[in-house]
Amino acid sequence: MSALSYVTGAPHSAWQTYLTQVERVLPLLGDLSRWADTLRHPKRALIVDIPLEMDDGSVRHFEGYRVQHNLSRGPGKGGVRYHPDVTLEEVMALSAWMTIKCAALNLPFGGAKGGIRVDPSSLSVKELERLTRRYTSEIGSVIGPQQDIPAPDVGTNAQVMAWMMDTWSMNVGATTTGVVTGKPVHLGGSLGRVKATGRGVFVTGCRAADKLGIDVAQSRVAVQGFGNVGSVSAELFNEKGARVVAVQDHSATLYQAAGIDIPALQRWQQQHGSIQGFPGADSVTDEAFWSLDYDILIPAALEGQITAACAAQLTCRMVIEGANGPTLPEADDILQRRGIMLIPDVIANAGGVTVSYFEWVQDFSSFFWREEEINQRLDGIMSDALDAVWQKAQQLAITLRTAAYALACERILLARKDRGLYP
Ligand code: NAD
Repeated sequence: MSALSYVTGAPHSAWQTYLTQVERVLPLLGDLSRWADTLRHPKRALIVDIPLEMDDGSVRHFEGYRVQHNLSRGPGKGGVRYHPDVTLEEVMALSAWMTIKCAALNLPFGGAKGGIRVDPSSLSVKELERLTRRYTSEIGSVIGPQQDIPAPDVGTNAQVMAWMMDTWSMNVGATTTGVVTGKPVHLGGSLGRVKATGRGVFVTGCRAADKLGIDVAQSRVAVQGFGNVGSVSAELFNEKGARVVAVQDHSATLYQAAGIDIPALQRWQQQHGSIQGFPGADSVTDEAFWSLDYDILIPAALEGQITAACAAQLTCRMVIEGANGPTLPEADDILQRRGIMLIPDVIANAGGVTVSYFEWVQDFSSFFWREEEINQRLDGIMSDALDAVWQKAQQLAITLRTAAYALACERILLARKDRGLYP
């Protein structure tokens, strides 16, 4: 149970999952554990009311959040989620995972996250724009290129980032492209950003597969979530020669033992908004997804998807976490016992924030890099991070998640300790 009065402490909440992950690393932190409470408390949590005039003239109110979990190592960094299930507690967890992720990759950022409890598909484009602009104004005093830099997450995209950048710029009276990342390329966005998270999943997955003696080109892959992260991951594994045999999104679960035609599924998804009804694969029940036959599982939808029951059914050799927090702690334990290697979210899906870092640097210098340069740097950073975590895990005989947390928490708490407390 959390000490924070505004937290429900529900056992399977994302925040509770994060706290359990932190508890597991504390014995490894030595004297730095004196500062560990800083990890259990978000530094700042802003709740905003967003009144929105709908196209029919009525007015609705939406609740939005921006949480800055930890700023010891630099400005806050983290996405903005538009989804009907967004809560303060979820945004807190997502912001905390950003703190860990940025530190694990050694990026000069703290962790933050934002969100609005809304179903964006129920709004017109104009309503979505007004909602985004009002939200940006409401959180405007806590974000900025040196303070906290939002980015896209579930339900938001480059267009939403363009509106956020424009609104913040209008409010301060100067075009400030570096206030958000994940913008369109013609507005100070970075080449390679759209595919960066899926690319990072692929790069870390291939590196780990190599170490485990799995031949990716001969492997069968299952992907949960077919949005930005899931579809790009599927595309890259497919291009490498792997067979993507199962895909699940919010609407359907598809299976095709010979491998699904991923470019065709991407076109279908773009035309229909989901994978439902795709003629090139069989439709199976959602529950069947976990017990299907595949070697690599990529959860790339939402948190809390791999429960203990799911983990017990998996027959794969490796899980690569594209989503944030998809695996519950008890499922982590089951996977470890069953010898299924898990590449944790804070490493596997860090490709997005890494290219966001590149975008922020490019915006500051107003000098833009070539895509090959970006991908090369991304691949290098991701591979090095995976290697460092792998080595730590081997040395201490711990999971990759605990090893990633150990490396990250050491960096965060050392920064906290050396900065000291003010006043
Ligand atoms: P997205 O909105 O583009 O796609 C989400 C996908 O998940 C959709 O295909 C949706 O149908 C599916 N989905 C939703 N609920 C589901 C359910 N109950 N069962 C199965 N599928 C379901 O989002 P995204 O940007 O791809 O993000 C996916 C995950 O990756 C999130 O956890 C996000 O926080 C994380 N992530 C995203 C990025 C990024 O750069 N976009 C970076 C790091 C982590």
